[in-house]
Amino acid sequence: MEVLVTVAVALVLWKGVQLVLQGALTAGDLLIFITYLKTAFKPIRQLAKYTGQIAKATASGERVIDVLDTIPDIQDTRGAMDAPQFLGSVQFDQVTFAYKGGSSGALKHVSFTVQPGEHVALVGPSGSGKSTLVSLLLRFYDPVEGRILFDGHDLREYKVDSVRRQISVVLQESILFASTVRENIAYGNLKATQAEIETAARLAKAHEFILKLPQGYDTILGERGATLSGGQRQRIAIARAAVRHAPIVILDEPTTGLDNHSEHVVNEALNQLTKGKTTFVVSHNLQATERADRVLYIEEGRVLEQGTHPELMALKGQYAKLYQLQAKVYPIRTKNNGGTNAIAI
Ligand code: ADP
Repeated sequence: MEVLVTVAVALVLWKGVQLVLQGALTAGDLLIFITYLKTAFKPIRQLAKYTGQIAKATASGERVIDVLDTIPDIQDTRGAMDAPQFLGSVQFDQVTFAYKGGSSGALKHVSFTVQPGEHVALVGPSGSGKSTLVSLLLRFYDPVEGRILFDGHDLREYKVDSVRRQISVVLQESILFASTVRENIAYGNLKATQAEIETAARLAKAHEFILKLPQGYDTILGERGATLSGGQRQRIAIARAAVRHAPIVILDEPTTGLDNHSEHVVNEALNQLTKGKTTFVVSHNLQATERADRVLYIEEGRVLEQGTHPELMALKGQYAKLYQLQAKVYPIRTKNNGGTNAIAI
C-alpha cells in the first residue's frame, strides 16, 4: 500500500512538474493537488491496516462456527423422554468402557448400587478410572457394555439435558466467569430468583464475604474469579451447585490446594450442599473418605473393594494398605500440616 502511494505521488510530481514547466499549471496548483492526493490515500492506508485484524477476526469466527457446529458424541436416543425428578438411586450394572484409541478398557465390569442420599467415596491410584466413572454418570460417554440406571431406569431412556440438570458438580478448579457474582451463581440455574441465589450463597457460607465485596452481588469478578481467594472461589462454586437443587452431587477433589482455614469452611459448605443428596466424592485424602457411607476402591478400571471405611480396614486389602501408608506419611492431622493434600496417589 505504501509503495503504491509513493509511486502515485512520484508520478503526479513528475507529470505535474512537466505541466508547471509548460506553464499549463501553477506550482501552487500542483502543491494543492498533491496535498489532496495524500488526504485521499489516508483512508485506503487505514483499510490496509485493518485487513490484518479482519483476517484474525475471520479466523476466530470460523473457530466459533466450528464449535457451534460440533455434533456431541452423545445424542438423545430416539424416543428419549424428559427425566422425572430423581430420588437419587444410582446403579452401575456390569459397566465396561474404553476410550476411543485407548489401549485398554478404562472401566471393566463395574457394578454397584447406591441408595438415595448415600455418600460414596471413589478411591484409587491415578489412572484407575475414577474420573471416567464420574464422566459416565454425567453421560459424557455411554458404556460400551452394561447399563447405568438412575432410579431403576437406564440413563439412555432420558434426554441428556434433563439428566444433567439433576446433577451438581464441584471440581478442584471451578470455572468462574468475568461477570457479576450473581450471574456466576445463577449459572447453576438460570431461572433462580435473587432470593434463591442468596439462600444458596448462605448455604455455601459465601453470603457474608459477598456482601463485603465493593458492589456485593453485583461485583464483577476477574477472569476465572482471579480477584477472589481459592476458598472464596470454591464457595461461589458450591453456591452455584446448591442453587440447582439437584438430587445427585459430584465432588472432584474440591478442597485440594486450599489452606487449612479455607478447607475447613469449604468442608462445612460441602456438608450443607450434600446433606440428603446422593454424593460421589473423588478424593485423595483418605481421612475425608472415612466419613463416607461407602468407599469404592478402584484399581485398573475395576472395583476391587467396596464397603464402609471400617469394613475395608478390617478386610486388610488395598484400601487398608493405602490408608496406613497415608497415615504413616501424615500421622497426625495437626493445625499446621492439616494433611489436606496428604499424598498424591
Ligand atoms: P483417575 O481419575 O482415576 O485418575 P481416569 O478415569 O482419568 O483415572 O483414567 C482412567 C484411564 O483412562 C487411564 O488409563 C487414562 O489414561 C485413560 N483416559 C482417561 N481419559 C482419557 C481420554 N480422554 N482418552 C483416552 N484415554 C483416557
